[in-house]
Amino acid sequence: MGLMPVESALQTILNGVVLLGEEEVAIDQALGRALAKTVVAARTLPPWDNSAMDGYAVRSADATGPGVRLKIVARIFAGDRPNRPIGPGECARIMTGAPLPPGADAVLMQERTRADGEWVELLEAVAAKSTVRFAGEDTRQGEPLLPAGTPIGIPEAGLLWSQGLTRVTVHRRPRVAIASTGDELCPIGEEPGDRIFDTNSPSIAAAVRRAGAEPTLLGLAPDRLEEVKALFARGLGFDVLITSAGASVGERDFAKDALEAIGVQMEFWKVAIKPGKPLAVGHRGTTRVFGLPGNPTSSLVSFELFVRPALRAMQGLPAAQLPLGGRLATGLKKSAGLRHFVRATVELKEGELWATPLSTQSSGALTSAATATHLISAPPEVTALAAGDRITLIPVSWVG
Ligand code: AMP
Ligand code: MG
Repeated sequence: MGLMPVESALQTILNGVVLLGEEEVAIDQALGRALAKTVVAARTLPPWDNSAMDGYAVRSADATGPGVRLKIVARIFAGDRPNRPIGPGECARIMTGAPLPPGADAVLMQERTRADGEWVELLEAVAAKSTVRFAGEDTRQGEPLLPAGTPIGIPEAGLLWSQGLTRVTVHRRPRVAIASTGDELCPIGEEPGDRIFDTNSPSIAAAVRRAGAEPTLLGLAPDRLEEVKALFARGLGFDVLITSAGASVGERDFAKDALEAIGVQMEFWKVAIKPGKPLAVGHRGTTRVFGLPGNPTSSLVSFELFVRPALRAMQGLPAAQLPLGGRLATGLKKSAGLRHFVRATVELKEGELWATPLSTQSSGALTSAATATHLISAPPEVTALAAGDRITLIPVSWVG
């Protein structure tokens, strides 16, 4: 298999995504998830015409211009139920959110009036309907409120709470198994001796959680085919299996062989990117499998570009981060052939995002990802970018 361009790799991954089933959850548990069913409005809001400001409820026919004086016959607060009608030459003091009294059809904000005991003088004319929030302006009982597929953010949750709803139906979270391989690895918390700590397992688990999915750590296997197979096989009951390391062409890189040996059908192997070239993607039954590279930065970049979009799409959420346009603050050089994802920090200057590449870009070093907030996507054919060049920036989800 040749190197896959990043766009086709992502497209292949997304084409194979199966939307997960539904579950009903409390609204605060639905935040960051997508509605699986359209929600219909349970209430008409606002329930009655009400004032949008603190001021005076008037009959617009009376309020013809500056100098008009009206008698204040009521004071209406939010929570009141006014029933005394406003007659000709009359008005009511009214607060924001208070129901409009019968007879009144507009409100004049307090700042455009002069109060004088029981009377108020208008400083301007008031058009019918002005400064009034009409019944049903926001939502109407029985009408669709939020369509299936809507991601629930805080305003959407607020809208649901404003309807008196407490539970909604969303797509369930993907269950994700994570398996790391490598003779050199030591579980965190154990005495490492000559080994290095298994950084990828907990880092990938954290990234999985941030993508709205539920991680399960399967642990570690040494670089022996049979043990790698046995570890990976335990991930086949999950929605997704993510393996870390051994995905390249080294003599003890068994990830791809082990996956194939346990029945995983490969969709592609190796993408034309740096970091993250040795990515293996496949499936067995309903389990989607991602074989990530071992270098911690490579595995994070691959996760960001390919696994996170898949996990989000499985939940009915928009898959990829919206890329941004920016400018390069300092020039960079690269080899031709691969698309580079350069870890960078970004600042806004004179209305534009200026990206500065981190000084280290070694995929073997986590310092080449730490503090980065964006990836500069540098096209395969390009070998140099100059300061000031226009670039595409991808925000990363791993930021602190
Ligand atoms: P590999 O893909 O197995 O060739 O690993 C590439 C590099 O990543 C090697 O330097 C490994 O030691 C390192 N590496 C692999 N897995 C992990 C891990 N779980 N945590 C930290 N480093 C790792
Ligand atoms: Mg290895």
